[in-house]
Amino acid sequence: MSLKVRCMTVKKRIFSLVILTVAVLLLAGCGHAHSWNMPTCTEPAVCRSCGEEGGKPLGHQWNPATCLAPSTCIFCGMTQGEKTTHTWVPATCTTPETCAHCNLIVGEALGHHLTAANYQHPALCQVCNEYVGAPLVPDFDNYNIANFMRPGVEYTYRTQTERGYSTTEGRTQVTRYETLLGNDTLFERTGYVWHIVTLTTEFSDSAYIQLGARPEPFVTDYYAIALCEETIQKDFDSYWEYEANVEGDSAHIYIEQEASLDVGYGGVATMTLTYYVHAPEGYDGVVVGLKNSAVNLKDSTFGEEYRKEDFVLFRLTGK
Ligand SMILES: [Zn+2]
Ligand SMILES: [Zn+2]
Ligand SMILES: [Zn+2]
Ligand SMILES: [Zn+2]
Repeated sequence: MSLKVRCMTVKKRIFSLVILTVAVLLLAGCGHAHSWNMPTCTEPAVCRSCGEEGGKPLGHQWNPATCLAPSTCIFCGMTQGEKTTHTWVPATCTTPETCAHCNLIVGEALGHHLTAANYQHPALCQVCNEYVGAPLVPDFDNYNIANFMRPGVEYTYRTQTERGYSTTEGRTQVTRYETLLGNDTLFERTGYVWHIVTLTTEFSDSAYIQLGARPEPFVTDYYAIALCEETIQKDFDSYWEYEANVEGDSAHIYIEQEASLDVGYGGVATMTLTYYVHAPEGYDGVVVGLKNSAVNLKDSTFGEEYRKEDFVLFRLTGK
């Protein structure tokens, strides 16, 4: 019933009783703007002037019970029932079993189940699939060998003269570097690529012109020098093979070699040495170049004996 209709009904009754003073009072009551109290969970809004009730109580809004508190009304704070037991979130590799509400901890984290780190990747957890720690440190970093040739830049290459009595100094540079999957002469194998690296070296000093040169091709591995040296097989005239450690597994690296020497005017000679390297796709550890033939590595490893001026090296990019 609207307030206006209700007031009319009341007026009729009052006139019939002819109690004017009461009628005046009631008329005043029905003419005011209600001033409502806020409703609560259990009480409706009530007019502060006339006591009339408006609408319904809000009703409680219950939060679920947790281990910290029973089910609780978000408006009035009233509770009902009991606290629950803890809500356990299972332990993981790095966190113990923990209550989602009160953060109570039970026991310990499970710990990762790690594979061994390798040169390409840190140790991998077989449970949570996260990498932990760092990859193995490459031997070249351990031995602080960092002066790789950049294609198109000329470097000094020092080696023995032909009979080994003295030293000649040539100038060498990487004049070609490309990768391909295979072609008519380079066989294709799934997961492998060929890298073609040509080193062009010019000898023109008087030592060379009088005594010739004894250049020496050189192959090693950026990551695992000792493994390379233990497994390498070589025939300086045609090929090299060695085992590399790729993703923790042994991977076969095969390298063909092609060399030619052009002697030009005044005895100036140009040596062209091309390496055809067959390596797993993406592997960037193969290092090819030239070594001073006066350096004998037989009784020690390359890394320990390395002297910058005795090697010119190029590291394959793996792309
Ligand atoms: Zn009122
Ligand atoms: Zn409530
Ligand atoms: Zn809890
Ligand atoms: Zn883990």
